[in-house]
Amino acid sequence: MIEVPFHQDSQVVRGFIRFSRTIAVLMIAVASIVLVAWWWDARLPTAVVPGQRSMKVNAAIGFALSGSALLLSQGSGRVRSRLGPWLSLAVMGIGLATLAEYVWSLDIGIDRLLDDSFARQPDPLSGRMAELVATAFVLLGGLGVMVSTRRWLYLREGLAVVLLAIAMTGLASYGFALAGRDSGPFNRVPIYTTLLLLLATLGWIASTPTIGLTRVTTADTLGGAFARRLLLPALLMPVIVAFVFEMLQSRLGLSEALAFSFVALFSGGAVAWLVWWVATLLDKLERQRRKSLLLRNDADTDTLTGLANRRAFDDALANLLRGQREHDMRFSLLMLDLDRFKSYNDDFGHLAGDEVLRITGHLLGAALRPSDLAARYGGEEFALLLPDTDVTRAGEVAARILDAFRGFAWPQRAVTISIGVAQSAPSDGSTDLIQRADAMLYDAKHAGRDRVMVATAVVSPGAVRSGT
Ligand code: GH3
Ligand code: MG
Ligand code: MG
Repeated sequence: MIEVPFHQDSQVVRGFIRFSRTIAVLMIAVASIVLVAWWWDARLPTAVVPGQRSMKVNAAIGFALSGSALLLSQGSGRVRSRLGPWLSLAVMGIGLATLAEYVWSLDIGIDRLLDDSFARQPDPLSGRMAELVATAFVLLGGLGVMVSTRRWLYLREGLAVVLLAIAMTGLASYGFALAGRDSGPFNRVPIYTTLLLLLATLGWIASTPTIGLTRVTTADTLGGAFARRLLLPALLMPVIVAFVFEMLQSRLGLSEALAFSFVALFSGGAVAWLVWWVATLLDKLERQRRKSLLLRNDADTDTLTGLANRRAFDDALANLLRGQREHDMRFSLLMLDLDRFKSYNDDFGHLAGDEVLRITGHLLGAALRPSDLAARYGGEEFALLLPDTDVTRAGEVAARILDAFRGFAWPQRAVTISIGVAQSAPSDGSTDLIQRADAMLYDAKHAGRDRVMVATAVVSPGAVRSGT
């Protein structure tokens, strides 16, 4: 079995890393803007859209830490690689502390601490983030620890998918929030936070694309190309569908049934389009493959007889000799030459001669096993390679070919052929074997043509019928 090694497209890998670094910088930048805005009591930059919920102080700190960890995870050096996982642990800590306060009513006081230090006018909610976001930060921190320490990498994909789902939920609820409608706990996830969560998750995944489930996205194969184009749209499809569903109702005032019909139509159309796109690409590639296969066949085939040409014969002979050296596999060679072909051409013309060559191609092809190779060696000379065949069996094959020629209803007059047979020997180079078979062919011609001569004495008399 031949193994084709996994090969990465290094340009794609570099692209992923660059994307990841850009996201890290973006996370730090946005978080900084939000923190400064809280500090100066400028609410608009914390919410992007007036009247909407602000990104919370502790969410901003979480993003700043996670972004820094992401940057560090790509650097080398001991300090950098040691610090990264700790920053991610801190991100987890922020999420856990918040959850502890909400879910278990533990007063850790982190909200107040952050409020006091950042928000000039104490806002009871400035430090509070939704449970969903707190959970997301626990996961984001976990993702960072796994990637920075290169551990539990399969869990990494699981976390990432949950994170994407949370971000999507937030994004979907934004449709409600925009319309000023209260949609329960979901629209407590601010749009800033939602988008940044989405990007942060992608950034972490992209920072190590060559391992785990994302490995295939860097392959320089058809599978890699598919994964790069389809994986993200497929993951984001629920977001888009949910978002559109909410927006159709809240902005355009469509009924739920109507909105559902639209998104169902959209989903079906999107899936159909993906299938069409994949099918088109596969179709194109399969055609290319077949074409190159045909071209290769053309290069190996003799056009007149349809047999292998001299080049293909030389390759096959070299292969068999290598097989003999490495695995001690014997084989036999038959050299064949049409008898008195020159006079056939003289009597009936070259076109009639060509027809004889074509028929010879058919007769030889019919006499062989699938593993054998019949080649047009030159002009009206042919060669047969019979793998795993000793000289006795080869002599029998040759005799069968003589019979086939004798029994064929030739168009102008009977055509016969002379055959020399030799078996490979361990010390053989390609010319040795050909010379031995050629010498036998010469003997067959001199002994009167239409016969087989075999290069060893080990042939039972009944097996090879020489002469007419
Ligand atoms: P022998 O029995 O000794 O082999 O006699 P021969 O006439 O066959 O002698 P030789 O093998 O030397 O003949 C080669 C002839 O084969 C010369 C040439 O006219 C003919 N020939 C070679 N290639 C082609 C071809 O592609 N088409 C045709 N029609 N004839 C060819
Ligand atoms: Mg000849
Ligand atoms: Mg001849």
